[in-house]
Amino acid sequence: MSKDKPDNNSLKQDTLAVRAGSYRSAEGEHSESLILTSSFVFDDSAMGEQRMAFSESGNVYSRYTNPTVQAFEQRLALMEGAEAGIATSSGMAAILSTCMAFLQAGDHILCSRDVFGSTTVLLTKYIAKFGVDVTFVPLTDLKAWKDGVQKNTRLLFLETPSNPLNEVADIEAVAEIAHSAGARLVVDNCFCTPVLQKPLQLGADMALHSATKYIDGQGRALGGAVVGSRKDIDEILGFVRSCGPAMSPFNAWIFLKGLETLKIRMQAHSANALVLAQWLQQQDLVEQVFYAGLESHPDHELAAKQQSGFSGVLSFTVKGGKDEAWKVIDSTQLLSITANLGDAKSTIIHPATTTHGRLSPEQRAAAGIADNLIRVSVGLEDIEDIQADLLRGLDAIR
Ligand SMILES: *Cc1c(COP(=O)(O)O)cnc(C)c1O
Repeated sequence: MSKDKPDNNSLKQDTLAVRAGSYRSAEGEHSESLILTSSFVFDDSAMGEQRMAFSESGNVYSRYTNPTVQAFEQRLALMEGAEAGIATSSGMAAILSTCMAFLQAGDHILCSRDVFGSTTVLLTKYIAKFGVDVTFVPLTDLKAWKDGVQKNTRLLFLETPSNPLNEVADIEAVAEIAHSAGARLVVDNCFCTPVLQKPLQLGADMALHSATKYIDGQGRALGGAVVGSRKDIDEILGFVRSCGPAMSPFNAWIFLKGLETLKIRMQAHSANALVLAQWLQQQDLVEQVFYAGLESHPDHELAAKQQSGFSGVLSFTVKGGKDEAWKVIDSTQLLSITANLGDAKSTIIHPATTTHGRLSPEQRAAAGIADNLIRVSVGLEDIEDIQADLLRGLDAIR
């Protein structure tokens, strides 16, 4: 093992998070190199010809390859136990690129019902426009997954744990259903990150991320990524290179640094969220708490088996309806009212009128998004300050 090129196969995950994909220029900088350039210079025309034909390795243009972006892709892939990874300009770009790589007119995609709002819009409004059929099934209903598969099903897509109710899918079982139908399973692993859940080890073909959330962890930059086999990632790479949803080198540099502290942040988010969930359960003005880390959650056992922690997002219902939920939220002073999650700063939001506001009242009822539901992404502040702030909110409806 040389100083410049550590043998990644012999390193453990915590070391990979800090060291993998490191690239050092001739200057010898210790921090990851930020190669902020749109194109790369050739020595002569012959080199230009070879590089443009991809017959010689080396950089051409940052939409194709960029060393900082590649370092992020390599580090994330190793952390997920995947052969390869591809970075994209946002989490939605990762989902779009995966669809564009593997679907064509006449195909079918089977998707869990409670996916991220923009994912639903992407599939039903845009991907459907190109003759791809989309159906949705309840995340935890294995019979519905099995029955939902059609002859033309190419992709199964799910997000676990779900937002904001913390429902948990049995990844291994859904992967089996996908593979017996000759389809691929894609798991949106945004809420857990590879620190808490490794979908590929459970049989999924690809895992994807909104790096915007926990991987950055400080609410600074948009980005996404997909990891999987070299062959599958090359399919997506072809689309990204030619069609443009590439990650900016600057954002890749932020996410590389984010991966270095991801484990201790995920552990701290999870620990704070569990204490908060248990505390909320004891509040007289709280009706129900949705957090898979609680033994009372219907998917607790599966989550405990499949994940090594329960992440930092929870939700709860308060006594009353929309007015009471808004009053609780608006009476907090510390928590930020924002739709983002996975940030060091705790955030609070009313799902029924924001993240799930585009659904009809019937769709919301089916998805369990009640008017008195509040979602909190538990940050890294002192838990006593978070509790005091929520108590201030609850006291406002007392
Ligand atoms: C935010 C989010 C996305 C979309 O990611 P962007 O980076 O905002 O494009 C996809 N899936 C989940 C679960 C998310 O939370």
